[in-house]
Amino acid sequence: MLWSERCAACGDPAALLCDPCRRGLRRAVVAVPPPGLDACRALLAYQGPGRALVARLKYRNDRRALSWLVDGMAALLDVPPGAVVTWVPTTVRRRSRRGFDQARLLARGLARRWGVPCSGLLVRGDGPAQSSRTRDERHRGVPLGVRPGRPVTRPVVVVDDVTTTGASLAGAAQALRAGGCPWVGAVTAAYTPLAGDRPHDRAEARRTPAPGGRT
Ligand SMILES: [Zn+2]
Repeated sequence: MLWSERCAACGDPAALLCDPCRRGLRRAVVAVPPPGLDACRALLAYQGPGRALVARLKYRNDRRALSWLVDGMAALLDVPPGAVVTWVPTTVRRRSRRGFDQARLLARGLARRWGVPCSGLLVRGDGPAQSSRTRDERHRGVPLGVRPGRPVTRPVVVVDDVTTTGASLAGAAQALRAGGCPWVGAVTAAYTPLAGDRPHDRAEARRTPAPGGRT
């Protein structure tokens, strides 16, 4: 089980996170929630080892840190009674290329921790992937809608892996509110405090050595 003895952020030998990476983690501060959200929490600042850790989940399907992230995220939010958990879906194209949707993995883990249902309430237009869109395009909003036939009369917690501009969460909140949702909260694994473009995320994830040679 060589892979379990590598740091989930830098790939050096370690049980889950090596000491330097663990010390380098920074908590995210969400000063102003994206529009339409009643609550918004994020676990890690998307920088340094926190960014590497989430990027490994996002781009390499490296799931060793998944339950660690879920535990931390679960503690951030008081979930209202009767809530349901959903996620910001990735594009169909990207999902078929990667074979998984990391936001869905996090949402399912969180729903289990909280003991509430998890349901795919949101659908998105399959436009350009977020990281290939310009900052202006992102600010104009992400085309998200509520999946037909899924009632949204309960409080909803929206889960995503990384918030950069907050446009995805705002788009999710707008769609859910339009569907009648009484309360929308969000929790993400990582958060970029200032809305900046991060076009090199994938290149960075590729440069990071795979734990135990796995991809
Ligand atoms: Zn490390």
